[in-house]
Amino acid sequence: MPLDRFGRDINYLRISLTDRCNLRCVYCMPEDIQFRPRPELLQDDELLTLARLFTELGFHKFRLTGGEPTVRAHIVDLVREIARLPGVRSLSMTTNGLLLKSLARPLAEAGLQRVNVSIDTLDPVKFKRLTRWGDVQDVWEGIVEAEKAGLTPIKLNAVIVRGYNEEDVVDLANLTLYHPWQMRFIEMMPFGEVAEFQQSQVITAQAMRQRIEAQLGTLIPVDGGRLDGEARLYRLAEGLGDVGFISSVTEPFCASCNRARLTADGKLRMCLLREYEMDLLTPLRAGATLSELKELVLTAVHHKPWGHGLAHNIVPMNRIMSEIGG
Ligand code: SAM
Repeated sequence: MPLDRFGRDINYLRISLTDRCNLRCVYCMPEDIQFRPRPELLQDDELLTLARLFTELGFHKFRLTGGEPTVRAHIVDLVREIARLPGVRSLSMTTNGLLLKSLARPLAEAGLQRVNVSIDTLDPVKFKRLTRWGDVQDVWEGIVEAEKAGLTPIKLNAVIVRGYNEEDVVDLANLTLYHPWQMRFIEMMPFGEVAEFQQSQVITAQAMRQRIEAQLGTLIPVDGGRLDGEARLYRLAEGLGDVGFISSVTEPFCASCNRARLTADGKLRMCLLREYEMDLLTPLRAGATLSELKELVLTAVHHKPWGHGLAHNIVPMNRIMSEIGG
């Protein structure tokens, strides 16, 4: 069991399969972003070597993310290989859903268990403005297909941005009256060159909750408002699904953080909002043994920061969200 120096059991790895994306969400990346050259990224065999190594260290929960994980070449084969590693108990994906209409079934058959789909509004015009490139109908069809393929319980993510979609929390929360889905609202976090926009346009979870309650009635805490992963859960009276709030900025959940992130270029990042990383790809390519690589991982785990420094205005500048894997 990999324990950090605060006694937290770090057993959850989020793997960014690519820094590329087929959207350009305003809160995530600049439109003219330059992606890393492919040779700088983990190749399939390198990724599988590292994934196996993490399972051998006691990691058992895995999430594939990006960039956009579904644009990675050979995604179905990669999922199949990761799913069959002994020690993988949970395998899920965070995706913008654009390609799920055709990929949901093959991914489920390959061993993917669940998806979190990002959908920030149901309004096609606002969706295009937020994502710069996307058509919300494609996402909706992807969600329907994912549910049919059994990638359940379906969780939906919405980042709420002042001036773009703060009213849309109501329509999105309303979905839980008719679908057994978990609709999660995320406070926007600041990263690198996008930080100024993110900090000026952030909407707090409390403001989102008030807006939903004013229109749809009381949000009843589920199990006393317990944390499900990073989301604090509520339910509308008569709701089939849950409404969750991920309040990383105003109410961080660092004490219960069990995550590490492997970036597409092979760095192990121990806190989303701290710059500290351990390079695994360079030693892997230089011929480090598996036990040497395991030592590096355990050192990084040991040094996992307690939490982020947003309250002291410490913003990570070395990467933006799409380069880390949300
Ligand atoms: N492309 C995939 C997607 O859209 O879900 C996976 C990668 S994306 C970086 C993962 C999650 O991070 C998405 O739910 C996205 O909305 C969220 N996200 C991106 N930028 C964010 C920010 N600045 N603050 C909070 N969440 C953010």
